[in-house]
Amino acid sequence: MRILGIETSCDETGVALYDSDCGIVADALYSQIELHAEYGGVVPELASRDHVRKLIPLIKEVMAKAGSQPADLDAIAYTAGPGLVGALMVGASVAKSLAYAWGIPALSVHHMEGHLLAPLLEDPAPQAPFVALLVSGGHTQLVNVASIGQYQILGESLDDAAGEAFDKTAKMLGLGYPGGPNVAKAAQQGNASRFRFPRPMVDRPGLDFSFSGLKTFTLNTRNKCAEADAGLTPEDVADIAWAFQDAVVDTLTIKCKRALKQTGSKQLVVAGGVSANLLLREKLADMVAKLGAQVFYPQLRFCTDNGAMIAFAGYQRMLAGQEADLKVKVRARWPMTEL
Ligand code: ATP
Ligand code: MG
Ligand code: FE
Repeated sequence: MRILGIETSCDETGVALYDSDCGIVADALYSQIELHAEYGGVVPELASRDHVRKLIPLIKEVMAKAGSQPADLDAIAYTAGPGLVGALMVGASVAKSLAYAWGIPALSVHHMEGHLLAPLLEDPAPQAPFVALLVSGGHTQLVNVASIGQYQILGESLDDAAGEAFDKTAKMLGLGYPGGPNVAKAAQQGNASRFRFPRPMVDRPGLDFSFSGLKTFTLNTRNKCAEADAGLTPEDVADIAWAFQDAVVDTLTIKCKRALKQTGSKQLVVAGGVSANLLLREKLADMVAKLGAQVFYPQLRFCTDNGAMIAFAGYQRMLAGQEADLKVKVRARWPMTEL
């Protein structure tokens, strides 16, 4: 079976073709980062307009790269939420229109299920049941995955997502958008012994997260440095980036360990933009080794938003017998437990 996947929930236009025999055959991604950089965050109206400009050319590109014709396709999968409604509507209406014209079903996909299933495209792939940590720009969740499609939230952020905290830290340090990769890069030059930032909620039981207090702590530290005689120096920026990243990674690692112990699972799946963080991968590798467990990730380019994860999740939805109709319905908010 061949499924075309379309992702337009935020600031990436992603398209990919998944083949159930040979995996991802072709994919293409257009990131709007430069478009939004001068505003320091995603501007929804600009995002929608850019998806309109880029989506059809990307679909043509992927179909050409794959040497595929519309007649080779069995379905089109598109992100129906959660995300920016205007941006989602672009993907949904293009997907529905093409599906109607080509006489195939259009399947709605949950963006976070897409992230969650991306590691299953790798070899070796995790086998459900497993525990998943979803860490992205809008979500920080620990999920018990009984089987594909059966999700129980074990814990989540009560305020900011981990990726959002990276983005805000980058902004206060003048490192630009998106923050994750820039904070990680600055941290490489950081002095590990200068600051120690708090690990939020680790001494309380449970699997919830909170990153807004850490954000305030980071801002206060930044302001203290800026008020000193020399102002905010490149050393200050690197040292703060180091301490911030260390605190986030440590917190995520502690909660993942707790989730593995609580569920008795020996498989941890980590996905979403922050799963690209190399320090996180290093610390989780140490942690699971001590528990005799394994950790699985998407390949680096499929950690952040992409069409491949949507095509693959659409395929899984199709196997599960999900119905398709021609209504263009998208959702800004959509709990994964409703799937
Ligand atoms: P959601 O998936 O929750 O709707 P999103 O789609 O905006 O949110 P993703 O595309 O999965 O999020 O990930 C983007 C986030 O990942 C950003 O917050 C970015 O800063 C963060 N990120 C990307 N690379 C890294 C990295 N190397 N280290 C830390 N964070 C990173
Ligand atoms: Mg993005
Ligand atoms: Fe995402």
